[in-house]
Order: sequence, then structure tokens, then C-alpha cells
Amino acid sequence: MMIDMHAHCLPRISRDEAFAVDAERAPWLEIEPGGERGHIMLGDKRFRPVNATLWDPARRVAELDAQGVALQVICATPVMFGYAWPAARTADWARRMNEHVLAYCAHAPSRLKALAQVPLQDTELACREADRAMAAGCIGVQIGNHVGERDLDDETLVQFLIHCAHKNIPLLVHPWDMMGGPKEGRMKQWMLPWLVAMPAETQLGMLSLILSGALERIPESLKICFAHGGGSFAWLLGRADNAWKHRDIIRKDCPHPPSHYARRLHVDSAVFDPGALRLLVDVMGVERVMLGSDSPFPLGEQHIGGLVREVPFLDEAARARILRGNAEAFFGLSLTPVN
Ligand SMILES: [Zn+2]
Repeated sequence: MMIDMHAHCLPRISRDEAFAVDAERAPWLEIEPGGERGHIMLGDKRFRPVNATLWDPARRVAELDAQGVALQVICATPVMFGYAWPAARTADWARRMNEHVLAYCAHAPSRLKALAQVPLQDTELACREADRAMAAGCIGVQIGNHVGERDLDDETLVQFLIHCAHKNIPLLVHPWDMMGGPKEGRMKQWMLPWLVAMPAETQLGMLSLILSGALERIPESLKICFAHGGGSFAWLLGRADNAWKHRDIIRKDCPHPPSHYARRLHVDSAVFDPGALRLLVDVMGVERVMLGSDSPFPLGEQHIGGLVREVPFLDEAARARILRGNAEAFFGLSLTPVN
């Protein structure tokens, strides 16, 4: 019985609904005849080929049954964030998207749970939508790892994290809007933005929180999880510690070595390699790694939980924690009946 805490949907947003918000950057769904396949569209350009699991909850539940997943936590596809729009417009969009995702999950309330999105470019509006969405049935909030030039150490974003700590709102931080740009320059092909920049974006988010000293001010009650095993973070934490020891400009805002703060952060398990998972568990601690598939995208784990189930170095208690128990504790799902 597994809980998968990282999976995406994109509701049936029409072209008209998207164009009314932003004719170039608001996503919508182009569904092919037959309804099995489609494309996420940005303006009139195809952004990504997708299948019906993304928008059809019945298809999703059938896949969960086939994969032995008891419960999946569903969040927006990051192209839905809208952080570059005027804040009031994004707040309205976020509210509508959250209602879409809640309706998607309502198809199977014991199998599908929703994370909200918020207008993160405006702290007050973001807090308001987070509170509203939690009251409406979401079990947490997903945010991008940055808003334009503002990283997670920016005071406006720190204030949102403090709000979530006080309100006991669990957070998933997802990399997006990758450095280097998706269409030009040095990362224009071979999905390099996803393979190189995305892990770096996640690492940047984590190190921004740590090296700025923000975690010294944010209550320890904050539940915050970073996608894709925390990207490059675990692999390069020794490098950050070494730099902290030998350069005062790295110590100036951060009173402890970066590794001291790993206990404050969760990650998902989407690393696709036994050695990488072993390192991740060693660095983060077995109680802070949660099954996350990134379903239903091709860069996600196709056999959900396969890596965690198959690696030889986890005992059964550790395996159960990663596959289910840690997510129950993180999202407060322990009293939720699971089919
Ligand atoms: Zn994802």
C-alpha cells in the first residue's frame, strides 16, 4: 500500500479560458480525437505531448489500481503557476485551478488528494489562497522554487513559508522556469533544461533557504519537501559544507554547516538509480524521503515505487516509511481511510 506524493494533473482548460488570462503563457489542453492523447498548449504552440491520465481522474484511478498505489497526491503542472502575471489575475486563476484539481480528486476522494497553487508573487494573496484552498479540501500547497529573480530566501517568500509553518500547511517545492532557458542558448536541445537546470533549480532553492539563514527564522514546524530527490542537493552537500568551512562569505548568514539543516527538509524519491537513492537516504535521513513518482510524465517513475521496493539496502521498516509512513506524517493522512 503506497502513497505517491508527487503527481501532476492539468485540468480541461479550454483555449478560450487560457486566452482570456494570457494569450501566450496560460496553458490549455488540446485533446486529440478519441480522447486518449493530447498536448499542453501555450498560446497556439504545443508545449508537451500528454495522455488522458493528466486530465481524466477515472483513468488515473485505473492506473493507481494497476500499480498498487493506495493514494496519490495531485498537484498542478508547473506551467500553470502564472507567477509572471499581475497578482490579482493570478489569484483568480489559482482559485479556479484549485477548484479544478479538487473536482478531479473528488472523483475518488480516498485515492486522490490535492495540493493547491497560490499567487506566490504576492505574499498576502498567496497566504489568502493557501488558507482558502486548505479549507476547501486541499492537503497542502505546491510552489515553484522561485518567482522571477526572487529565490526562497527572499523576504516575501520567507514570509509565505512562515505563514505555512504557523498554519500547518505542508509544502511541495517544484523546480520550474529553468535557468538557461528552454528554447535558446546552451540548453536548447535534448531536454537539457529538465536534465541539467531542473536539478540545479532545486538545489538553488534548498541552498537559498539554508545559506541565507532563513531556516533560523522559519519555525521548525514547517513541513517542506523538494521534488526530484532535491535535485543536485544531496550529491553536492559535501561541497557546500567544505565551502562553509573555508570561506567566511558563506558562513556570514548561516551559523551552522549546510548539512546541519538537512533535517529540516524532505525530498521525494524520484532519482531512478539505486546508488542515488542510497545516498539520498544517507544524507537526508530515512524519515525525510517520500515516494514521489512525477506521474504521469515520461520523466517520472513508470513503475511507481519500483526503485524503493527493489533496492537491497532498505529494511522493511525503512521501506514502509518511504513508501507510505513518511507521507502520512507529512500530510497528516494517518486517519484517512485508504482503499
Ligand atoms: Zn513534477
